[in-house]
Amino acid sequence: MDPQSLQAILGQAQAFFASKGLRFTKQREALVTLIFRNNEHFKPEDLLPKLGKSHAVSRATIYRTIALLVESGMLREISLGGGERLYDPNFLRSPHHNHLICVDCRKIIEFEDPNIDVMQNCITRRLGFSPTQKAIRIEGSCDMLRLLGTCKNFKGLKAGARKKSLTGKSERSR
Ligand SMILES: [Zn+2]
Ligand SMILES: [Zn+2]
Repeated sequence: MDPQSLQAILGQAQAFFASKGLRFTKQREALVTLIFRNNEHFKPEDLLPKLGKSHAVSRATIYRTIALLVESGMLREISLGGGERLYDPNFLRSPHHNHLICVDCRKIIEFEDPNIDVMQNCITRRLGFSPTQKAIRIEGSCDMLRLLGTCKNFKGLKAGARKKSLTGKSERSR
């Protein structure tokens, strides 16, 4: 992310915190920077090791800051099913993106398609809605796992039916 966009995001976050009567502390600034500097979907616990020693940020601060960013509309929560949740910093940059989620390995692919936008607009208008948030989520099996029986992200949710595999972080691409 370019420094200018990051500055804009920090400004937006700071304004939201101020509207809540909260200080935009160094810790919160470090967190917001970390969250929006790259485009990874993340779990709150992923952030702690990445913060480094220069910012003593408590777990509570991480959860609270994430909740506030979600409330502000800057960050979105996405459910992977089975109670697993990730946070997605990418809606600021691409507000209409959608997700393909592999039910086996939890790999996430983001995609955009103008036809989907048109279709969503038609449907919501027909049913008398003005959409405030639009995102499609499609669950399926990724090709790697289907074809090879394993993939680097496989988390063993269907253990027994699959051969040995490695656990790992979710992945994204456009
Ligand atoms: Zn996303
Ligand atoms: Zn997969």
